[in-house]
Amino acid sequence: MRSLIKKEGFDFAFDPKACESCGSKCCVGESGDIWASDQEIAAIAAALGEEERVARAIYFRREREGWRIKERETKRGFECVFALESGCKIYDARPAQCRSFPFWHSMNDHLDRLASECAGVYAGAIV
Ligand code: SF4
Repeated sequence: MRSLIKKEGFDFAFDPKACESCGSKCCVGESGDIWASDQEIAAIAAALGEEERVARAIYFRREREGWRIKERETKRGFECVFALESGCKIYDARPAQCRSFPFWHSMNDHLDRLASECAGVYAGAIV
């Protein structure tokens, strides 16, 4: 049985169970910016069992706006370095930006695209 999450201001519902089998589709494709705070980087490093300074060097890029997770280019397009076919390598420690997906206000204007990219999104009559 589906357990759908709905949020005020969004024209769709979301089933987080879909993340277990979608192959990190939302983390692959066009290049994008995923940001992490110092606290989030510390939590990610701990989850990976790495020293924070080592994790920063391997997985993050310092930009003017802050720390951004690196991407790699593969036949699937640009992938977050933590994206695996089996899901997010750091799922329990993923940054707030990832946790809040797909409830990003920008998504309301791209519902067709969102529904085609995210198996957990139900737009339209079901909402
Ligand atoms: S950190 Fe995890 S959830 Fe966030 S973009 Fe990377 S693979 Fe996806």
